[in-house]
Amino acid sequence: MQKIKRHKTREIQVGPIKIGGNNPIVVQSMTSTKTRNVGKTLKQINELYTLGCKLVRVAVANKEDLEALEEITKKSPIPIIADIHFRADYALSAMEKGVAGIRINPGNIGKEEKVKEIVEEAKKKPNLAIRIGVNSGSLEKDLLEKYGHPTAQALAESALRWCEKFEKWGFKNYKVSIKASDVLTTIEANRIFAKNTDVPIHIGITEAGFGEEGIIKSSVGLGILLYMGIGDTLRVSLTGEPKEEVRVAYQILRTLNLSSEGGIEIISCPTCGRIETDLTLIVKEVKEKTRNIKKHLKVAIMGCVVNGPGEAKEADIGLACGKEKGVIFKKGKPIKVIPLRKAVEELISLIHQLNQ
Ligand code: SF4
Repeated sequence: MQKIKRHKTREIQVGPIKIGGNNPIVVQSMTSTKTRNVGKTLKQINELYTLGCKLVRVAVANKEDLEALEEITKKSPIPIIADIHFRADYALSAMEKGVAGIRINPGNIGKEEKVKEIVEEAKKKPNLAIRIGVNSGSLEKDLLEKYGHPTAQALAESALRWCEKFEKWGFKNYKVSIKASDVLTTIEANRIFAKNTDVPIHIGITEAGFGEEGIIKSSVGLGILLYMGIGDTLRVSLTGEPKEEVRVAYQILRTLNLSSEGGIEIISCPTCGRIETDLTLIVKEVKEKTRNIKKHLKVAIMGCVVNGPGEAKEADIGLACGKEKGVIFKKGKPIKVIPLRKAVEELISLIHQLNQ
């Protein structure tokens, strides 16, 4: 199996989760609930956890959100990262409430001393990590003047500057994310940054959009970065249900042989004139009924005898369709011939057997 050579970074820790070094790429997401609504937020966090999400960020937009962190961090099955903008006081207070990390854009926190204050406090908490976010919207004035607009070079330079400051202040448990609204600028800025440092990198395509558009934009942007070996942790940002973000993140990682987690992977043919059954219907139904399975299993559903048996044999479970009948494969071996009207039922039952 072809493997991507990953850019070498140092290891940091977000609570119990190790990021960077030789650790697997960590999938994270962000809740879309009002954090102050503890019940709803925890429900969403649990759903994300079930799908393999390892870290979750929650927005801290006001005092009630801040207060809610105490209960959320106690009851969450995965470490919580507080997402804080503009308010150094919120960052300081969040650290007292059990979060494993905070995400700040130093560019919008205000004076440099405020950022230093946050760093000094973080130093006192074991395994509390800070994510330095650099976005085109919060770039320092002097860099904007120097480059005219938020170019890739300007964004990378801003990130490197903050790293230098964090190091000078004696803090190493941090990672960096650099995002521009333009995908190519994001890629180039991350490339420049990675070339100059061993700081772990969080990758994401900001405001990627809704549905198909967001998934494609994220897959292209993140796919290129990951192929270049860049990215120790990632979030797919999509408008809508965060559950979808985790599923897509794992699909991107699996496509690049960078993860063996994240649920059912369906390999199905595009269908052509040789097909004698409604393959789309079978694929759709199997996909729908296995959405909540966390274990990674390869399920091949193939349209005919041309590629069907070959592909089906490579998967954990396979189905090669014929006319009205199909052959079921398990771990490479044909196990039975079934009528195709029973295909979904048979596949689901085998998936559940292997998911024990
Ligand atoms: Fe066509 Fe068969 Fe290939 Fe599917 S597996 S695309 S039906 S030849």
